[in-house]
Amino acid sequence: MEHEGRGVALVSGGSRGIGRAAVLRLAADGFNVAFCYRSAGETARLLEKEVAELGVRVRSDQVDVTDAGSVRGWVSEVEKDFGPVELAVTSAGITRDNPLALMSDADWHAVLDTNLDGVYHVCRAVVFGMMKRKRGSIVNVSSVSGVHGNPTQTNYSASKAGIIGFTKALAKEVGKYGVRANVVAPGLIETDMTAGVGEQAMARMLGSVPLGRLGRADEVAHLISYLASRDAGYVTGSVFQIDGGITI
Ligand code: NDP
Repeated sequence: MEHEGRGVALVSGGSRGIGRAAVLRLAADGFNVAFCYRSAGETARLLEKEVAELGVRVRSDQVDVTDAGSVRGWVSEVEKDFGPVELAVTSAGITRDNPLALMSDADWHAVLDTNLDGVYHVCRAVVFGMMKRKRGSIVNVSSVSGVHGNPTQTNYSASKAGIIGFTKALAKEVGKYGVRANVVAPGLIETDMTAGVGEQAMARMLGSVPLGRLGRADEVAHLISYLASRDAGYVTGSVFQIDGGITI
C-alpha cells in the first residue's frame, strides 16, 4: 500500500491491543509514530523500543484522553517535536458493562468521557492543522456495538454510535480541505478488553461468528493502514466493519 512518505501518525490508546497493533503497523508503513496511554507506562516504553527498531521516530506520552487540555498539549508537543500530524487514529477506549437498570452514573460517564469525548478531543486538536495544510486522515475506532447495539452495553454502544455520527459529520466538513475521516468498527478482537469474558459467554458469542474465531488486533491494524494510505484516497465518511461476520 502506498503511504505518503514519512508523515506523522498519532495514535491514542497505543500501548495495548488494537492501538498497539496500529502503532506497529504504521511504523512498518514508514510513519513516525506518537502514541499515548493512560497508565501502562512500562508497556509503552517496551513498545517504543520495538518501534524504534523499525527505523522510524517514536514517542509515547501519558495522556488521559478525557482531558481536553492534556490532549491539546500532547498534540502541540508532538508537532513541535516530529512535525505536522498527518494521520490520527483514536483507539483509546474502555467498557463498563451492566444492564441499564443497574448502570451507575459513574460507569455511564466514564465510558462516554473516554470513548466519545476522547475522540472529540483528539480530532479537535488535529483537525485545524490538517485543514490548513489540506492534507490529513482520521481513523476513529468504533465497534459493531455502536452499529447494532449490544445488551449490557448501553453506555458503550451509545459512545460508539456517537463516534459514527461524529465522523460522518466531520467527513462532510473537511472533505473540501482534502482531509478524510473514516470509522473502523471491529467485532470480537482478541485483546485485554475481551480477555475478561468468561469461557461460556465467549463460546456463546463465538457461536454467532461465521468465521468461528476472534479477530486479531493486527487484522484491524491492517484495515487502519489501508484507510491511511493513498489507495484509500477516495474513501471518507465510511464505516468499515471487521467482525468475522458476526453482524450478518
Ligand atoms: P485494550 O483494553 O486492549 O486497550 C485500550 C487502550 O486504550 C490502552 O492503550 C489504554 O491505555 C488506552 N486508554 C484507555 N483509556 C484511556 C484514556 N482515558 N486515555 C488514554 N488512553 C486510554 O482495548 P482494545 O485494544 O481491545 O480496544 C481498542 C479500541 O477498540 C477501543 O476503543 C475499543 O472500544 C475498540 N474495540 C475493541 C474491540 C475488542 O473486541 N477488543 C471490539 C470493538 C471495538 P493503558 O494501557 O494505559 O490502560
